[in-house]
Amino acid sequence: MNRDLLGRHRSVLPDWLALYYEEPLEITHGEGRHVWDAAGRRYLDFFGGILTTMTAHALPEVTKAVGDQAGRVLHTSTLYLNRPMVDLAERVAHLSGIPDARVFFTTSGTEANDTALLLATTHRRSNTVLAMRNGYHGRSFSSVGVTGNRGWSPTSLSPLQTLYVHGGVRTRGPFAHLDDREFIAACVRDLEDLLGHTRAPAALIAEPVQGVGGFTSPPDGLYAAFREVLRERGILWIADEVQTGWGRTGDHFWGWQAHGRSGPPDIVTFAKGLGNGMSVGGVIARAEIMNCLDANSISTFGGTQVTMAAGLANLAYLLEHDLQGNARRVGGLLIERLRAVAAQVPHVREVRGRGLMIGVELVRPGTDEADHEAASAVLEAARAGGLLIGKGGGHATSALRIAPPLSLTVAEAEEGAAVLEDALRGL
Ligand code: PMP
Repeated sequence: MNRDLLGRHRSVLPDWLALYYEEPLEITHGEGRHVWDAAGRRYLDFFGGILTTMTAHALPEVTKAVGDQAGRVLHTSTLYLNRPMVDLAERVAHLSGIPDARVFFTTSGTEANDTALLLATTHRRSNTVLAMRNGYHGRSFSSVGVTGNRGWSPTSLSPLQTLYVHGGVRTRGPFAHLDDREFIAACVRDLEDLLGHTRAPAALIAEPVQGVGGFTSPPDGLYAAFREVLRERGILWIADEVQTGWGRTGDHFWGWQAHGRSGPPDIVTFAKGLGNGMSVGGVIARAEIMNCLDANSISTFGGTQVTMAAGLANLAYLLEHDLQGNARRVGGLLIERLRAVAAQVPHVREVRGRGLMIGVELVRPGTDEADHEAASAVLEAARAGGLLIGKGGGHATSALRIAPPLSLTVAEAEEGAAVLEDALRGL
């Protein structure tokens, strides 16, 4: 490790900029599903940054598109016509399934959620918002105010009035013992109860699968049931697809489609993967909602030509190579394999997820207590074995997060699973 760089990092960057690993990593290059550190060590990457490398590292198609655009012009503004932005917006609008969709590009997921909250609160003339317990939507002034996962939002003085709803986590909390149908009914009653105590909220914001929260999700159909309650009252549904979009979950292109009967959300936010490492985020909403703002633009850098070029090339690759199908197939094998290992490791409480979004929750053996030390130990052991993974969770970061680039091969899935198996058995 480069100790000099770590020392400089610590002396000039904020203390709260947490680094993974006892010996933090400096990634110097990547290719496919692999990255290399400054010492020349190769790692199989099962986290892709934080799901930011959606297709593959250093994908030649994306590299070329970025290089070509950067070599021509880096003219950055929303004051002029921007062909790559229009091209990508058309594609994203079409893929969203939202009727009469408008797309606004941002540079991050936080900014996308800020914009969605700005739209919803303006459209509905209400600063009350519903959000899911344990959810994560960012740490800006408004997005932190709807981030229920307090482990990630210790300071929160938000301009929003937020009410937290049960349901994002299936296997913990007061309704965990119920079957799926009863669970959904209990969460709907909880939502109705909250609504009885408040002036009409603007929106419900929710991740279809909670990302930072440790890849947990409700039973399919929860958000369809919520939608009926919301629709009757004119409350908007914002689906935060920052982690779940673009086929990551295998069965669906968007995470919300697991709750399909409800139709598309009123507003969808996305970020992370579309730019394959370039900063592309955005908001999709029906024109009537998007156009409620009285603004000229709300971002200078959103939709820059070079990031749009990356998004276009990356999305084309994803669709041409059916990486959603690959996520379903390879992710399915990986989940099966990990469940078989988990059955023999008492620390593993649950292997969950779908597609290439897999969570492994660790507890102290024989108890239901979240074990974040075990999660850190597995993270270190996996790294020593040449594998990068992530971690997350509710009040404790006790879940391993596995979210490789969507082009992961079966051989690579097996190679990574073998390293994880050793790391888990070593606990
Ligand atoms: N929403 C979700 C679901 C996320 O996981 C994240 C990032 N972890 C964000 C929003 C915020 O995105 P960003 O870090 O790009 O601002």
